[in-house]
Amino acid sequence: MNTFPLFFKLTNQPVLIVGGGEVAQRKADLLSRAGACITILAPQISQEIHQLLSDERHTLITAHYDKKHIDGKRIVIAGTDDEALNHQVHADCKALNIPVNVVDTPPLCDFIFPAIVDRNPIVIGISSNGKAPVLARLTRARLETLIPQGYGKLAKLAGDMRDEVKSKIPTLTGRRQFWEKAFEGKVSELMFAGRSVEAEQALKQQLEQTHQQLSSNSDVKQADPKSVGEVYIVGAGPGDPELLTFKALRLMQQADIVYYDALVSSEVLDLCRRDADKVFVGKKRSNHAVAQQGINQLMIDAASSGKRVVRLKGGDPFVFGRGGEEIQALRAAGIAYQVVPGITAAGAASCYTGIPLTHRDYAQSVRFVTGFLKSGEPNTGFAALTNPNETVIFYMGLHSLERLTKGLMDAGRSPQTPIAIISQASMPTQQVMTATLQDIVAKHEANPLPTPALLIVGEVAKLHDELAWYGEHIVNTDQQAHALNML
Ligand code: SAH
Repeated sequence: MNTFPLFFKLTNQPVLIVGGGEVAQRKADLLSRAGACITILAPQISQEIHQLLSDERHTLITAHYDKKHIDGKRIVIAGTDDEALNHQVHADCKALNIPVNVVDTPPLCDFIFPAIVDRNPIVIGISSNGKAPVLARLTRARLETLIPQGYGKLAKLAGDMRDEVKSKIPTLTGRRQFWEKAFEGKVSELMFAGRSVEAEQALKQQLEQTHQQLSSNSDVKQADPKSVGEVYIVGAGPGDPELLTFKALRLMQQADIVYYDALVSSEVLDLCRRDADKVFVGKKRSNHAVAQQGINQLMIDAASSGKRVVRLKGGDPFVFGRGGEEIQALRAAGIAYQVVPGITAAGAASCYTGIPLTHRDYAQSVRFVTGFLKSGEPNTGFAALTNPNETVIFYMGLHSLERLTKGLMDAGRSPQTPIAIISQASMPTQQVMTATLQDIVAKHEANPLPTPALLIVGEVAKLHDELAWYGEHIVNTDQQAHALNML
């Protein structure tokens, strides 16, 4: 470690920035956020610095540099494009022992500006010690995705309650357990969901419970009041793990137990917390009614015993995902829950195959339709699906391709209407087959595609040939040949 990470208090401290261009402005912005009183010294300045100077804390000196300007400054930054001048500032500061940073010149820096993840009051600084600033920035980007925006508010709330917690929980271990529970459970989830008032109430309630327990039985060391867990119904997306949301990933990583469906890919499942129990609750088409009640009960029992339960579902939980039915059961049992949206199969199938669901020339509306009803009977509502300017997406439709295409044509949709079957959308095994309503059945019989698969019916389907991304997702032989021709 050839520099030491310190967090420097700059509130109301005098800081000099020599230079008036973009480089100086970037540093000025950062230092201004830390509350410094900045003096900008430059013969002329950019428009952006003008804006910064509207804050009366800051001063502009329109002049050439002179040694006297560094007098009394806490730190000095030289960011001019005049190398000799930068060296001069550096030498003058060294003589007076004032920490100095010459921008982008590591040998002339007493301190460096880290890449910053700002969740004030939580602040993370990342440095590569001037060796690879881009790598430091990429590290920052990774951390940004992992740390919820609500962290700052959570830390502020903890700060406000710190003294009260200290007075009510006398031992260090007790307080540590208290805060761990708050930061990994209901309090933090409420804060991350933007419900700060409820988060504060939950924290106060947790404190009261712990306090009462401690005073009613001082022999029992910090026993945790019996807590009830929560259920997170999480959309796992269509298969490609990169299509998970940050929120889904965070909850998956703190789950005690995960109940997952057949549609959840193994790559996605691998991203769950290593120690979590992972329970497969995939349903067969024939016995889902019974299985669904069983799944509901499993979730209720696990949450009642204090576990954080993640119910991981393919795609989006509220699009043919029975998410609604599951939360009805949770509600009836008084279990707290959250629902996290996921990318539904239609979104992935369309984007990963170059078939826009709407296009001003071809489709002004789009419908998501199930091939099957709850009773297990086929869906036969074709009369509503004949608008030539509407895209129709069939979920769970491949098994009844013949019935669906015939139903559409009988109801009046043109036999020439384009249709695409997208199998295993977003996965490395994705395949696409396009045809028209009248010839898709024969084409598919000659070369059946594996499930899960989605049907896209409508003029937009013909855009696949034009707009498909000829990348790794193409395994269909016609298209492979096309892709090779294009290389
Ligand atoms: N909740 C899910 C849908 C569940 S219903 C979602 O929002 O995507 C199951 C049906 O979804 C399957 O029969 C299939 O039609 C479709 N499906 C799910 N994942 C798919 C994928 N990766 N590729 C193609 N179709 C998929």
